[in-house]
Parts: sequence; C-alpha cells; structure tokens
Amino acid sequence: MLRVAVSGAAGRMGRTVVAAVCRADDLELVGAVDREHDGEDAGLLAGLDPVGVTVARNLDLMLEETRPDVMVDFTNPSVVAANVRTAIRRMVCPVVGTTGLEEADLEAIRWACAENRLGCVIAPNFALGAVLMMRLAAIVAPHMPQVEIIELHHDQKVDAPSGTAVKTAEVLRRARAGTGGDRREEREILPRARGAVYDGDIRIHSVRLPGLMAHQEIVFGGLGQTLTIRHDSISRESFVPGILLAVRKVTTLTGVVYGLEKLLFEDE
Ligand code: NAD
Repeated sequence: MLRVAVSGAAGRMGRTVVAAVCRADDLELVGAVDREHDGEDAGLLAGLDPVGVTVARNLDLMLEETRPDVMVDFTNPSVVAANVRTAIRRMVCPVVGTTGLEEADLEAIRWACAENRLGCVIAPNFALGAVLMMRLAAIVAPHMPQVEIIELHHDQKVDAPSGTAVKTAEVLRRARAGTGGDRREEREILPRARGAVYDGDIRIHSVRLPGLMAHQEIVFGGLGQTLTIRHDSISRESFVPGILLAVRKVTTLTGVVYGLEKLLFEDE
C-alpha cells in the first residue's frame, strides 16, 4: 500500500483527490492538511463515510507524524513552493497539481529532488484530454503558425493565464517554424484587449466566469480557414486518472517530471 497525504485537502481538488485515494485499493490516505476545516474528518469533507484522518493545519508536523510516501498538493500559488520544499526535506515524493509555480521555484525543486534522489511529478493539467490537445496542437503548428489561445475557468481561479495555457504556448513555440509573420500594427482601445503575449505573437485570453470549470480553445488561422482544438474538463473527476498515475509512479522516479505527457508518451 502506498501511503498518501493530501495538502489542500479541504479544497475543491483536494476533496476530489481524498475521495479517489480512499476508493483505490492500493493507496492509503494517511494525512490531510488545510488551513481551513482543522480537525474535521477528511473523508466526510470529501463526501464519504469518516475515514479516521483529520485535517491538520501544519504540513511539516503532519508529514513527520504520518510518514507518507507521497504528498499530493492542490493548494494555491503562494504556498505550493514552500509545501514542496517541506515534503522534500521529509523525503516524501511530491505530486503537484497547483499551478502558478515560477521558473525559479521549479529550478529550486529540480535541484532539491536531484540532491535527495527523490521523485516529483508536477503537472499543470492532469486531464488526459488536455495533454492530447497539446499533442494535436504540436501537429498543427508547423502548418498554421498563426494561433491564439483562449482559456476559460471558474471565477475562483486566482492565477491567470492558466498553467495549461502557458504550457500550450510553450508547445506551440517549439513546434512552429518561426513566428506567425508580420502583423499590421495594432492599437488597443482598452489596455490588454488583445490578451497576454507569449513568444512575440501568441495571444492568450483568460476568461473567468461562474459556471465554468476548466476549458481551452486553441484557434489556428490560415488563408481562408481556421482550425480550432477545444478541450473541456466538465468535472473534477477528469483529473483523477492522471493524478493517480502520478501517485503510483512518483516513488519510482528520480528528479522532477514536469507534465503528465512525460508519464504517458515515451517520445516526450
Ligand atoms: P481551492 O481554493 O478550492 O482549494 C485550495 C485549498 O488549499 C483550500 O482548501 C485552501 O484552504 C487550501 N490552502 C491554501 N493555502 C493553504 C496553506 N497555506 N496551507 C494549507 N492549506 C492551504 O482550489 P482548487 O480549485 O482545488 O485548485 C487548487 C489548485 O489546483 C489551483 O492552483 C488550481 O489552478 C490547480 N488545479 C490544477 C489542476 C491540474 O490538473 N493540475 C486541476 C484543477 C486545479
């Protein structure tokens, strides 16, 4: 049995992970941390029967007491880097879904994992469909280099653009030969009307509305035609298979694996 702790256990994703871990025969939920719902049963919060694991406030203490193999983190961009450092110090393999990690944080995590010979998986999107969307985008980009990304999320999301949108832009930059060509000079009547800019001309537009979950369109434009690739996560369950795959693999890894595609496709 792999021993799993969940950081951010009272959050939307945290509760989904708690439920998935409790339902898996080969995983054992041993710890749960959140700054809210202190002392409450993590199973009850996740909509299950009580599981006897109460939500603690202090991650370091919880890891010391429960000694998990894996810590799954779905918290927020301001605390995730510190949480991962804490897990590595305790020799617990992190599986990180929280988005908004900056390059400097990633570098520090890579260094700490290599030094401790510890595995870590960080994925801005654990949904298989989203990973496939990026693979498809890489096929299209060399033929249709003019492209814009529209990402749409629920209104509680704090970071923008989404980690998936940034990752998609990276994929597009690598896959297309050169940029989308010269554009006529534009004038924004309202600041940032044309979205954020990546690699000179890949525009990213972030939509935040109640009723949405996690959606993205990649719109390619060519002479007299457009091609749109769209992915929708319509339930948080969409992330579960990817998260469980990472949980099961991470203890066999050394160093940081960034992106679910690296666990799914041998050529990545
Ligand atoms: P949420 O706000 O519902 O949950 C976050 C939880 O973290 C909350 O319960 C909050 O109390 C807790 N928290 C915050 N700071 C804390 C701290 N210092 N100590 C302990 N707990 C703390 O958010 P969510 O919708 O569950 O999303 C969480 C993160 O996961 C976001 O960054 C989101 O973008 C990301 N996300 C990633 C994927 C993916 O596939 N990688 C999918 C969905 C969401």
